[in-house]
Amino acid sequence: MAAELIDGKAFAAELRERVAGHVAGLRAAHGIVPGLAVVLVGEDPASEVYVRNKGRQTVEVGMASFEHKLAAETSEAALLDLVARLNGDDAVHGILVQLPLPAHIDADAVINAIDPAKDVDGFTLSNVGLLGTGQKAMVPCTPLGCLMMLKDRLGDLSGLDAVVIGRSNIVGKPMAQLLLGQSCTVTIAHSRTRDLPEVVRRADIVVAAVGRPEMVPGDWIKPGAVVIDVGINRIPAPERGEGKTRLVGDCHFESCAAVAGAITPVPGGVGPMTIACLLANTVTACCRAHGLPEPEGLTA
Ligand code: NDP
Repeated sequence: MAAELIDGKAFAAELRERVAGHVAGLRAAHGIVPGLAVVLVGEDPASEVYVRNKGRQTVEVGMASFEHKLAAETSEAALLDLVARLNGDDAVHGILVQLPLPAHIDADAVINAIDPAKDVDGFTLSNVGLLGTGQKAMVPCTPLGCLMMLKDRLGDLSGLDAVVIGRSNIVGKPMAQLLLGQSCTVTIAHSRTRDLPEVVRRADIVVAAVGRPEMVPGDWIKPGAVVIDVGINRIPAPERGEGKTRLVGDCHFESCAAVAGAITPVPGGVGPMTIACLLANTVTACCRAHGLPEPEGLTA
């Protein structure tokens, strides 16, 4: 393997440590405890795991964690009522409503009811608009984590060719905005892109956020490019025994790693950074709410 491995797990641990330091500082200097509220509606097993991890890591860095688990049949009105209460609660600096929501609830209406100053996922129209116009926003956690790892590896990104594969609102589009903010020349590729291999081949930075197992092979990668693999795909792994599965990214790891300059693994790359960035965003939101200077290195 030619590529350097970008160890998202270690990077996330280091970011959490810095967050914990800032949390301790806020408590000691101002008596403030940053608080994160996570709302889960229904019993989606994957969402339950995410919410449990978020709650545990929130407490580990010294912040207050408020978990609200609501029944699957909770009405949209009741959920909006809870969001309004959390908006008005001074102990809560960040609010995250775990997606997906049950089909009878309008997810856009709920997300946009969150006070943009507490929108630590960066999904409200207000924060999307701020990011898109280059203003101070709450930045979505997954792209924020990708950007941190890219800057750590490459330093100044200015002038580099970046290709983002995927145009979702939660990953692809905000990732492209962040790279544009770093003065990259950005191409957003998607399912209708013509000649995707050629588009990817010219990139110094490839961010793959597609949701298709091992779709990007090594011969699409420019030698020395940095590859950030956001995809998390579970595929059958009969070699591990009957019915067993394993996680892979959107990039074919071995062949991409043979050509790239650096690459994130799956698992252990972008995934761990997402929750660490959520904690970082909560500290940022807390500092902004109290009119305190924002700690360096926690946002884009
Ligand atoms: P979406 O399904 O919302 O978006 C996928 C994007 O990929 C779409 O824009 C789609 O294009 C594009 N696409 C699909 N097929 C192709 C193709 N053959 N060629 C080029 N582009 C294609 O996914 P998300 O953005 O929500 O997630 C992407 C992946 O990232 C998933 O595997 C998800 O699990 C993972 N993820 C990981 C996170 C983490 O913490 N590590 C967090 C969030 C997501 P079009 O718009 O034309 O349909």
